[in-house]
This record gives sequence, structure tokens and C-alpha cells, in this order.
Amino acid sequence: MISKRTYRAIYRLLDRVSPLDSDCGKLCGAACCTSAYEDGEEMGIFLLPGEEQLHSPQDDWLDWSEESSEDMGFPESWPEKVCFVHCKTPPHCPRKKRPIQCRTFPLAPYLNKKGELSLIYNDMDLPYRCPLIEEELPLNDDFVQATETVWKHLIRDERIYDMVKEDSEAWDESIAQLAELLGF
Ligand code: SF4
Ligand code: SF4
Repeated sequence: MISKRTYRAIYRLLDRVSPLDSDCGKLCGAACCTSAYEDGEEMGIFLLPGEEQLHSPQDDWLDWSEESSEDMGFPESWPEKVCFVHCKTPPHCPRKKRPIQCRTFPLAPYLNKKGELSLIYNDMDLPYRCPLIEEELPLNDDFVQATETVWKHLIRDERIYDMVKEDSEAWDESIAQLAELLGF
């Protein structure tokens, strides 16, 4: 399990970088913080196993819930409950407290069949348009490098590895389906 100290170090590293030099929220009205799914369901941010050590249900800027990992489609190796948080005043939040999911977007980790890690755009099932992804705007090198370093470290936790692996397989499958649809 990744320790509280390590999560703190990861937060500190990611505090120093940003996808763009400017505030990308101005391009889209901070869509990733403020959008809801079409059915009106609020988007939640899940915490990685152990990340909850840096947060608390008593934090006044967060609504907090625990959901069944199985129902939410997390790997079998995950704990029975996964922590979901919703910010109460998006897009405003204590920046140093943002969960990892917020810090590494719009990139996502991808494991190929040899188990090699790379980063891809995180555009699976998004209920909003992210200009960084849609327009493939160049992301800061230090952001990309820090994000890769962080995921390399995080996947040493077997549960996080399993999640990245399963998400990567789902990604491969969706690419294969798309290729078939397009007749490649
Ligand atoms: S990451 Fe994408 S969706 Fe989120 S604020 Fe930046 S440009 Fe907008
Ligand atoms: S924690 Fe901050 S960055 Fe993350 S969704 Fe909420 S308002 Fe946006």
C-alpha cells in the first residue's frame, strides 16, 4: 500500500506542474470540474487506494461517499469500498488538496501487452469536451514527465496496476471495435 508520506510527495511533485502555462479552465469554463453526466448525475472523483489518507469526510469543501468497488467496476483486488468525493464549489477548491485524478487529467496511464507504461489522452466516456484533448494542444513537458513518473510509482501498488491494466484492455477493445466499424 502506498504510504501517506508517498502520496504527499506525489501531491508536491504534481503541485509544481500544470498541463499548460496558462489556466486551461479558461478555454472551456472548467468543464472537467463542473460538468455532469447527461442524466444529471454529478461526476465524482474516486480516490486511489490509500489516497484517502490525505483527505477526510470532515473536509468542508468535499462531499464524501463510499461506494461498492464491484458495482463501480473496479478490479477484484480493490477494497470492498472505494471513496468518491464531490467538490462543493467547483471549479474552486484548495488547489493543494486536489485528488490525483484531477492532477493528471487529461492524461491517463496505459499498459501495453508487454506491461510497458505510457500515457494516453483520458477521453473514455467523457460527458464534456476537453480542448486539450480535442485540439491536441501541446502539453508542458514537465507536466507529462511528472505524470509519467507518478504513474510509474503508483502502479507498484498491485491494485492500481490492476486498474490500469483493465482500463488499458478496455481501451484496446474500443480501438479494435472502432477499427472494425471503419473497416480497417
Ligand atoms: S483539463 Fe480540459 S476540460 Fe479540464 S479545464 Fe483543462 S481544458 Fe478544460
Ligand atoms: S477538486 Fe478541484 S480540480 Fe478537482 S474537480 Fe474539484 S474543483 Fe476541479
